[in-house]
Amino acid sequence: MKKIPFPEKSHSTYPHKINKPILSKIVTPALKIGLTGGIGSGKTTVSEVFKKLGVPVFNSDDFGKQLLQHNTNIINQVVQEFGDTIIDNKKINTRKLASIVFSDKDKIQTLNEIIHPHVINQFEQLAQKTKKKYIIKESAILFESNSYKKVNKIILVRAPLDIRMKRVCDRDNRTKEEVEKIIRNQINDTKLLKRVDYIINNNNELLTPQIIKIDKILSNI
Ligand code: ATP
Repeated sequence: MKKIPFPEKSHSTYPHKINKPILSKIVTPALKIGLTGGIGSGKTTVSEVFKKLGVPVFNSDDFGKQLLQHNTNIINQVVQEFGDTIIDNKKINTRKLASIVFSDKDKIQTLNEIIHPHVINQFEQLAQKTKKKYIIKESAILFESNSYKKVNKIILVRAPLDIRMKRVCDRDNRTKEEVEKIIRNQINDTKLLKRVDYIINNNNELLTPQIIKIDKILSNI
């Protein structure tokens, strides 16, 4: 004859058993860390090292691009604002869009105003969910988008202009002029030095030791 298992006792009859786990679940929210730097400075390269250390990283620029490809509401707003010449094969051609907005700071701001509330919202949700000590928000436009106001600490990745230019031209097959146009519209590194908490030099210095040092500091705040 099959034994019928006893039903488990409800927690409500054992209040002493549920108090402990609930108390031990109280967690402090993760620190929000902004990671910024000009085009080709090495933000994504640095992010990859943080990821290897187990740190969650949210790439704002990638998320923004995804929205431009898949969020109908945003696509409609962007086409309404910048015209349907930016559409190729029913999709937004981000390169064409970039060439329009990077020639005019007001246009960049308009584009940011459409996309950025969604980016902020997504990052806030991830930051609330994570159980890690800190979470990184990688963004080329941390200051321009005012996102810097919503993070606890900021890391700046730096590299000399000529090296950045060469790395981007090699990576993206872009012309020097295209890259220069983008750089002209980004905030100059030297203006940011006083506004950031940590600096990573991505020139001749090894990246990993600099990142491990910052990780130790952030893990112990
Ligand atoms: P973007 O602003 O365009 O997203 P980014 O700041 O994220 O750029 P990366 O994509 O990390 O920059 O780096 C730009 C290019 O330079 C990449 O092809 C990357 O592999 C290369 N790179 C970055 N750091 C180094 C390095 N220390 N040594 C050699 N190549 C590097």
